[in-house]
Amino acid sequence: MRSLSSVWNLLVSTDEKIRRQLGYWAVTAGMYLLCTALLWLEVSFGEAPRQATIWTSIVMLGGLLPFFLLIRLSARLSLRPSQLALAQGILAIICTVFFYALSGPARGATLSILLVVLVFCTFTLEADKSHSLSVFAIGLLGLTMAALPCIDPVRFPPRLEMIHFFIAAATLLVVAFLTGKLSQLRSHLKAQKAELADALARIRILATQDELTSLANRRHMSEVLADEERRLRTSGQPTCLALLDIDWFKQINDKHGHDAGDAVLRLFAGQAQGALRATDVLARWGGEEFLLLMRDTSLDDATQVLGRVRDRIALACAVELPHLPVVTFSAGLVAMSPGEGVAAGIRRADQALYRAKSEGRNRVMFAYS
Ligand code: GH3
Ligand code: MG
Ligand code: MG
Repeated sequence: MRSLSSVWNLLVSTDEKIRRQLGYWAVTAGMYLLCTALLWLEVSFGEAPRQATIWTSIVMLGGLLPFFLLIRLSARLSLRPSQLALAQGILAIICTVFFYALSGPARGATLSILLVVLVFCTFTLEADKSHSLSVFAIGLLGLTMAALPCIDPVRFPPRLEMIHFFIAAATLLVVAFLTGKLSQLRSHLKAQKAELADALARIRILATQDELTSLANRRHMSEVLADEERRLRTSGQPTCLALLDIDWFKQINDKHGHDAGDAVLRLFAGQAQGALRATDVLARWGGEEFLLLMRDTSLDDATQVLGRVRDRIALACAVELPHLPVVTFSAGLVAMSPGEGVAAGIRRADQALYRAKSEGRNRVMFAYS
């Protein structure tokens, strides 16, 4: 059963777009088969020439396999769906005109196939290509209908051909107009869909990221911590939390302006993030306060991480903001106890941070258990 489905996937691909195009191809193939059968029926009635019908059948049915392969391999061959639809449309129009030329008195009915071809192409073609295809169909039909009475005026009376042409041309023009409108509508919807996807991606970022520092915001961090709390209940891995607060930040704002304060916050966030591992999560918890989650980390390792953060910030400050005093931070560090809730952990980290501030700042204090 599984091998059958893998053969099926190999045949029709797993790509939704290619599958959809192959679906259209299958409908076209059905139509070609029907047309060929009808032509041969006319041959059996003695109303269509055998030799020409053989060639037309070869072209109609012979074109199916190459198009199947082209659609199936379109991704690899970098063929756009519109290119394939245009080529298929042109072949279908040529075959239909041949079908018309070979058919007996009932040939007028074959013209309706042209409408089906144009409507089909609307699913994939842009409006201008749809129009060009209609003009091509009218032109080829006009030439054929003008030539047929000259070749065989008994089978193709000029007046009848003229009537056929005007009916076909008028119908094709109306269909071309309508399919053009449909194509425009489709392009419009596609552009709107892309805009919506873009807006959604931006909203997602805004909902999870702090605008100034691009770190996780408090809301997103709360979600991360809720997940972490569930994980901690079962894993028992050592996990540390640290609350970091920039020292004397108000003075930077007051002496150097709010923009300088913002620059410090961005530098702090960038440098701290750069010192962390992929599994650590740093969030802007408040104005100049940051919360750091360190999974699978002992207290010793966490202390080292905070040391790294401190060194990077001091270095970057000297290089990037030489007109400002070197930025330091105080931190409260907590090793989460088994079964301890995240909120309780943060409370302990906050108390430790308070002690770090009152004992002189620019230091890390461990939380009491
Ligand atoms: P301490 O060492 O005790 O932490 O003192 P501090 O001056 O760092 O702390 P305090 O709480 O007195 O001041 C924090 C200041 O941070 C006050 C607030 O205006 C400022 N702040 C909060 N958010 C922003 C921000 O997004 N940009 C800027 N530039 N300043 C901010
Ligand atoms: Mg502060
Ligand atoms: Mg503060």
